[in-house]
Amino acid sequence: MADGEETLRLTMDGHAIEARAGASLIQAWLAAGLSLTSNVGCMGQGVCGACRVLVRRPGERIATAALACETRAEDGMQVAFVDHFPARRTHAYDLDALGDSWAAIGAIDKVFPEAKHCRHCGGCDAACPKGIEVQKAVNLAVEGRGMTAAALFDTCVMCNLCVAACPEHIAPAHLGQFLRRMSASLTLRPGDLVLRLREIEEGRQPIDLDAPQPEEAAR
Ligand code: SF4
Ligand code: SF4
Repeated sequence: MADGEETLRLTMDGHAIEARAGASLIQAWLAAGLSLTSNVGCMGQGVCGACRVLVRRPGERIATAALACETRAEDGMQVAFVDHFPARRTHAYDLDALGDSWAAIGAIDKVFPEAKHCRHCGGCDAACPKGIEVQKAVNLAVEGRGMTAAALFDTCVMCNLCVAACPEHIAPAHLGQFLRRMSASLTLRPGDLVLRLREIEEGRQPIDLDAPQPEEAAR
């Protein structure tokens, strides 16, 4: 720790560590010299959901779910990484066989029949570190409002915490992924994305692989 820098003391997976103020939990863990053998994903981009943790702050009775890359270390925090847990069963589907959007709505119940057993317990909402209205999205999907439900899952990072939380084994994250895939396969891709991809394909927008990362550019 550099001179004059505030030092935070917290516990991560049973290790008492020191961290600099402003460090994310994942930065604090690595700066303490601890190795990360699971929960390794995009390493700080906030897009993969692999670094799920349970966090309890001083004075709190209940731990809350978070992503270690998006949560700053705080003094007195207790943090535990949460392992990967697969869904109880796999959900097989063929997007090319969905047909049109009329037929596709029927596929939701075919692939995820357990979704209609949602007991509205709110467990998935409480578990979601991205603040997604998971229960609402599941219920909209059951009603056949697949596109609206897919949009609610837009920021899902597939951390699977809602999968662990669901007492009906609905696997909301996997339902959300199915809905987003279905939506993308049945609708036009966003115009900006298609234009950009075309420009790259035609060499009119070369990719500069040596361009500085956003944090480097900001220095
Ligand atoms: S919806 Fe589920 S998998 Fe997606 S971010 Fe929320 S808890 Fe994680
Ligand atoms: S955790 Fe499962 S049962 Fe509970 S509200 Fe969410 S989807 Fe429904």
